[in-house]
Amino acid sequence: MGSEDLVCASCSGLVIEGRCPTCRASREYLRRNSANLSLQLLLAILAIVMILAVLAGRHAS
Ligand SMILES: [Zn+2]
Repeated sequence: MGSEDLVCASCSGLVIEGRCPTCRASREYLRRNSANLSLQLLLAILAIVMILAVLAGRHAS
């Protein structure tokens, strides 16, 4: 599974590069769960990242 290729919805960078707090939280989560990472877990992470991005957008505007 290409968890390294996850793109952050908040900063549009690779999550693994950790450019923003959302990236770093997701990367840490991935690292802790990499042993039992499944497609469903990946989708759940993506959903969390998108929710965080929406929340961040609300704060910015
Ligand atoms: Zn990011």
